[in-house]
Amino acid sequence: MVLGRIHSIESFGTVDGPGIRFVVFMQGCPLRCLYCHNPDTWEKKRDGSEKNRDTSHFREPGDLLAEVLRYKNFIAKGGVTVTGGEPLLQPAFLKEFFRLCRENGIHTALDTSGYICSAKALEVLEYVDLVLLDIKTIDAELHPRLTGVGGENTLHFLDELERRQIPVWIRHVVVPGLTDDDASLEALARYISRYKMVQKAELLPYHTMGAYKYEAQGMEYPLKGVEPLSAERLANAKAIFKKYGL
Ligand code: SF4
Repeated sequence: MVLGRIHSIESFGTVDGPGIRFVVFMQGCPLRCLYCHNPDTWEKKRDGSEKNRDTSHFREPGDLLAEVLRYKNFIAKGGVTVTGGEPLLQPAFLKEFFRLCRENGIHTALDTSGYICSAKALEVLEYVDLVLLDIKTIDAELHPRLTGVGGENTLHFLDELERRQIPVWIRHVVVPGLTDDDASLEALARYISRYKMVQKAELLPYHTMGAYKYEAQGMEYPLKGVEPLSAERLANAKAIFKKYGL
């Protein structure tokens, strides 16, 4: 039986897809986004030391489904979202868990960076009703600086979702001094507006609420000194996306 390494669970999520959702945070991520507010999900296996106490745990897909079913009435108009970390690091677990959700009439959403495009990862899409695709930037030079990896896979992943006709919500964190300039926002909005399966774009304002987690793990916060995105700059970003029907 395949096991999934789970970081944590939120039984009444309201920000990760439509309706009220049972949200599963998977452990492990190959990216290192400068603004990540979940650095405690990065390591595939955490070391268990006091400052980096391992709170992740293993679950079987059927066992996790049984927990989901306890909330079935509450999430009837929502569903299940799996996020992370990067869920597609554990494709076998994910495929089976989503398959069981589908079998039980539960809407499935996958929140991913689209970085992992292996055949096994793409198999998971057979059981996904909605993808929340996090596009950090479409600037090929900025992407590695922002995340530690190239951005090509994410764009291939978006092509694959279009080909398979899977609905997509784009998520994009707007970071002052990195991704909040009009030219970058304009380029991203123009790029994603070409995809029929993109149903909407969620612009997420950069905030510093995760900074304390770096400190707790003895790490330096990479964006120290960068102020949260102002309401004005967020409104500006939204206005740019609106021009493209997003
Ligand atoms: S992809 Fe998500 S979890 Fe991974 S580093 Fe980036 S923001 Fe953090």
